[in-house]
Amino acid sequence: MTDALPPLRDVIRRHGLSARKSLGQNFLLDLNLTGRIARAAGPLAGVTVLEIGPGPGGLTRALLAQGAARVIAVERDDRAIAALGEIAAHYPDRLHIVSGDALKFDVAPWRGKGSVRIVANLPYNIATPLLIAWLSAEPWPPWYDRLVLMFQREVAERIVAKPGSKTYGRLSVLTGWRTQAKILFDIAPSAFVPPPKVTSSLVQLIPRENPLPCDRRTLERVTEAAFGQRRKMLRQSLKQLGVDPVPLIEKAGLDPTARAEDIGIDGFVALARGLT
Ligand code: SAM
Repeated sequence: MTDALPPLRDVIRRHGLSARKSLGQNFLLDLNLTGRIARAAGPLAGVTVLEIGPGPGGLTRALLAQGAARVIAVERDDRAIAALGEIAAHYPDRLHIVSGDALKFDVAPWRGKGSVRIVANLPYNIATPLLIAWLSAEPWPPWYDRLVLMFQREVAERIVAKPGSKTYGRLSVLTGWRTQAKILFDIAPSAFVPPPKVTSSLVQLIPRENPLPCDRRTLERVTEAAFGQRRKMLRQSLKQLGVDPVPLIEKAGLDPTARAEDIGIDGFVALARGLT
């Protein structure tokens, strides 16, 4: 779907938007690709999209062209804010530009106003902290109905990893406990300006309505201890929790000689519940 807005390369030139590494800027200028990402975010009619780091606005334009009711775009680069103003004028009342740091963005004013979906080509330097903050939302189910996010392939693999794999870790447990996550497709470095060193992956995360009940902070304490020494047996690594680990592990129905990467999410939840 095309709009009557100028090509992104012109936008970048006019606004002096040369990419800055410090801001994790790798822009997508191919409107076919931004359209593909917006379509992967599902039907957007009636949906408020929160986009982190719109930059020159390629994905923003695609989300609006795909029919998002509104896009809230949080960007900390002032040069991009000016460029986004042109898109806002083209789509009256549908693009709300928020100038500032996404890590400090307060979603409270937007809660309870229909579905909110987070769709972003994330700045890689803050991608994991942002994901952890969204996965840590309280109460649960959260204020968003879906996350559709671009990560470095290596991070995407850690997000969706299953027990027994080398990439399975704390992030996989937190993600798998609260959401159903999958990699939708990969994007080659050459699709970005400038090209990053590694392949990227678009990941979809759908919140579970009813995750296995347990206290999130306790679950995090358990996975931190277990994966902090991932080569050690649980009966050793869980000593860090300050309790006798063997009865805790046995009560959870697990083998004290198992290692963190052998334990499924239900196992970690059982450990967290035993500790609470
Ligand atoms: N969405 C654009 C695209 O796909 O071409 C740009 C994506 S680029 C990978 C990441 C964007 O996040 C940049 O525009 C950058 O300025 C912005 N950014 C970096 N750190 C940020 C932060 N803390 N808060 C908000 N935006 C940030």
